[in-house]
Amino acid sequence: MTGSLVLVATPIGNLGDVSQRSREALAAADLIACEDSRHSGRLVKHLGIADPTYVVVNEHTERDACARIVDAITAGKTVALITDAGTPAISDPGAVVVRAVLDAGLDVSAVPGPAALVMALVISGLPTTRFVFEGFIPRSGGDRDHRLADIALEERTTIIYESPHRVVRTLADLANACGSDRRVAVARELTKLHEEVWRGTLAGAIEHFSAKEPQGEFVVVIDGAGPAAPANDEQIAGAVDAALANGLSVRDAADHVATALGVARRTAYRVALSRRGTSEQP
Ligand code: SAM
Repeated sequence: MTGSLVLVATPIGNLGDVSQRSREALAAADLIACEDSRHSGRLVKHLGIADPTYVVVNEHTERDACARIVDAITAGKTVALITDAGTPAISDPGAVVVRAVLDAGLDVSAVPGPAALVMALVISGLPTTRFVFEGFIPRSGGDRDHRLADIALEERTTIIYESPHRVVRTLADLANACGSDRRVAVARELTKLHEEVWRGTLAGAIEHFSAKEPQGEFVVVIDGAGPAAPANDEQIAGAVDAALANGLSVRDAADHVATALGVARRTAYRVALSRRGTSEQP
């Protein structure tokens, strides 16, 4: 009989958020996979679990740890995977282990619980129906610029994780990319003594968090961009002229412009008919 891998969510600050099922899953595990046995040892001790066997899973040990975890599960053991805080595999180790265990044809389940991104989103006051989680965005270079540009155009609410040292710079870069009046919620030290949720515009957030050195853990929730403004007559005419100049027929130019600018085909056709004379080559 084979065992299984169980991803167990742990608190993001407040130990009162440990669920009964998390406690039972950790107590029942033959092996506890964690990022740091000293850090997780404190939680495990708090839960009254005596002398567990740990296997350390981090970016350096992940490959060896996967082999050990797969072997243990194949031999019938139950492995509980936790991280320093929150839900494993969310900006934390876990996904590689899950993939390895599934590839070996073994069972994976989870005990759900705290995740900073979910808590920050639901208390942000921003739309929750559709959202994007970006984790930590790249620290510098073209990758960072591209990610910021994507966030600026994203119509869904975007959630990012950030460190206290970089949060003001990231808010400033977001203001440059999205405009300083874009709405934002900055959630700090969730579930902890100094929990704070600041809500307003990016300009206001920069002012607020520049006033004194930011401390603690941060989640930034950014409002989505409004839908793109509908194309005006001048833009439609310009696009039609370009399509006609490229040799498209009136009908094809109208189809092309209707799709490209998201305007009614009838409108694009009417403009294409009226522009034909001005754009046709002699
Ligand atoms: N796995 C975790 C989760 O489920 O949210 C995330 C781990 S990631 C290494 C750590 C980042 O999560 C922090 O830098 C911060 O951006 C965010 N975070 C974690 N705990 C938080 C808290 N209590 N308050 C605000 N942000 C938190």
